Amino acid sequence: MLVVMNPNATEAQIQAVAQRIRELGYTPHIIPGSSCTAIGITGNRGPEGQDTLSLMPGVAEVIRVTSPYKLVSRETHPEPTTFPVAGAHIGRDFTIVAGPCSVENERMIIQTAEFLMQRGIRLMRGGAFKPRTSPYAFQGLGEEGLRLLAKAKQQTGIGIVTEALDVENFGRVEEVADIIQIGARSMQNYSLLRRASIASKPVLLKRGMAATLEEWLMAAEYVISGGNRRIVLCERGVRTFADQTRNTLDLSAIPVVKHLSHLPIMVDPSHGTGKAEYVPAMCAAALAAGADGLLIEVHPDPPRALSDGAQSLDFAAFERMHASLGPVAAALGRRLN
Ligand code: PEP
Ligand code: MN
Repeated sequence: MLVVMNPNATEAQIQAVAQRIRELGYTPHIIPGSSCTAIGITGNRGPEGQDTLSLMPGVAEVIRVTSPYKLVSRETHPEPTTFPVAGAHIGRDFTIVAGPCSVENERMIIQTAEFLMQRGIRLMRGGAFKPRTSPYAFQGLGEEGLRLLAKAKQQTGIGIVTEALDVENFGRVEEVADIIQIGARSMQNYSLLRRASIASKPVLLKRGMAATLEEWLMAAEYVISGGNRRIVLCERGVRTFADQTRNTLDLSAIPVVKHLSHLPIMVDPSHGTGKAEYVPAMCAAALAAGADGLLIEVHPDPPRALSDGAQSLDFAAFERMHASLGPVAAALGRRLN
């Protein structure tokens, strides 16, 4: 349920409604808006209390939220979610996050950070803890990778996006990251989602490779329900019968997610296609389709990458791709970050 307060409702009236919701055994989530405040209610199984809430001073109306996800739904929060992070503004500007699949050594990560900052890219991705299909494949540098990311940030000022793979290492990732990535394989790791829900940093939540949009939004609901409202979704392709690409990048998820939810959505064309040559076309398509940004794999020397080299752009290809987005953004009236 959602309690919509009058535009002129006082803080005392808002708090009184929140208190009444607690007395009824539910959890109130106060959602400030530009015209009025709403209070989301979770934990309710039935309509008990609804009538009495609508009688309280300052209440404009009480609405039943019909979708299974409550706090991430558009019904609860009609305005799009936006938030500033590390010199970027997610949800407002088209935000590009780029960098290698994995942090491999100091030289390559500093080189990449410098290259990106020169191009005006404010956020760098790079995995320290890598979820790999094979236990024999490079698993990431772990703690050492985090240390190198922190060094790249300190030397260049770039913001860091890196994955938290488990609850055990979450706190360390949280210290270093400006945005904590939850990968496709972890989208339904509920203990990880609960930990992310109380994190002090924003969360980039990738879509599971076989997840429906509802399952994905329910995963985001875990994060928001603990109080972390700074979430950006990331479409990275799903598994289909099409086998010319690594996954099938579901660009239709962009308008659907925007219809169903207020959360920003980015697109990862690297994992979506698996091949560097197809990445630029999907970058432009994501921008044109209304995405809020891109998560792209870029490597100084893709043939020598320790993971995902085939889908990584080299610096020259990234520059060409980035330059080609300018006219598309201008035509759409979007500001490129
Ligand atoms: C990654 O971003 O490198 C990654 C492992 O992605 P995904 O979780 O989408 O497979
Ligand atoms: Mn990768």
